[in-house]
Amino acid sequence: DKGALKNYGTNVLQNIINEAGALPTKNFRTGYFEGAKNISGEAVHALVDETNKKFGDKAEGKYGHPCHPGCIIQCSNVVPDKETGKAIVSPLEYETAWALGTNCTIDNLEHVAKLNRICNDLGLDTIEAGNTLAMAMDSGKIPWGDGEVAIKFLKKCYDPSDEDGKVFMQGTKFAADTWGVDRVPVVKNQALPAYDPRAIRGIGVTYATTAMGADHTAGYTIAPEILGSAGGDDPRGLKKADLSRAFQATTAYIDQSGYCVFIAFAILDIAEGMEGLEETVAGFLGKDSYDITEVGTKIIKIEREFNKKAGFTNEDDRLPQFFKDEKLPPHNVTFDVTDEELDAVYQNI
Ligand code: SF4
Repeated sequence: DKGALKNYGTNVLQNIINEAGALPTKNFRTGYFEGAKNISGEAVHALVDETNKKFGDKAEGKYGHPCHPGCIIQCSNVVPDKETGKAIVSPLEYETAWALGTNCTIDNLEHVAKLNRICNDLGLDTIEAGNTLAMAMDSGKIPWGDGEVAIKFLKKCYDPSDEDGKVFMQGTKFAADTWGVDRVPVVKNQALPAYDPRAIRGIGVTYATTAMGADHTAGYTIAPEILGSAGGDDPRGLKKADLSRAFQATTAYIDQSGYCVFIAFAILDIAEGMEGLEETVAGFLGKDSYDITEVGTKIIKIEREFNKKAGFTNEDDRLPQFFKDEKLPPHNVTFDVTDEELDAVYQNI
């Protein structure tokens, strides 16, 4: 079957973002990782083919897997063990392979899949866990790039009396403060995902301004900035407030509908898709029509009001200072979007 998501899942992005020089590597030190191809969606695809051939009916690996029956995108997967063909984890997403792999410079697919499985078992968010592992590596507690040591370290979280495990379970910022790391990629204390905001500025504006903390799914401007959807947008542009606000409002609208957010890739460019979504929601609400942006903006206003009452101000809508100070190789760029532009996202809603 054709289709990037069907064949390689969300992890098709591993090689794409790497080639764009925007793949955060070694706790956001560079935008290119030599080992990315080894843990990419293409690598999972090849492993599934290999184990299916070797183990036949007994093989459990899959790509083109619908995480719920009826989905025609089918971006999910099951990562098999090379030696037995049995499932290690399902699914291995791009963000996870990046967080537990690339950002920790681990390029062994089996180790990454095992780390993912442990996170699932512990109920840990994999982006937060990967960034916390990177804090352990940055502090010198464990070495960079050693998957086996990382697995052993993560397993400390099973022991409620283990000091490292207890700290780890509190997330990236808490671990960084405890272990003495000062390059901490968080916004509102939530760890950053798999796109460096210095190389792709619109997503940086979303990280900074969304009420949730650094959350790529809250306004996925990667679609126009890298994938050319909705007419495209220069990733290095500095005027991103309108783009990020529009994506945040539309995403809030899609999220409240209950549809998987990945339908956005299709409906951004196919008018009938958006009409279908509008009709579903109208039927549910018992209304003939409504304004998408209005619905999304109303949700965002409630979220921001909650944050305001919890003590958040515009000063919390910022990226960590090192993104402004440190140049990101290979393109040697910094996050040059001004604070005024960040504040413009929600100035007049
Ligand atoms: S429902 Fe969404 S996440 Fe699940 S397979 Fe379909 S597109 Fe992928």
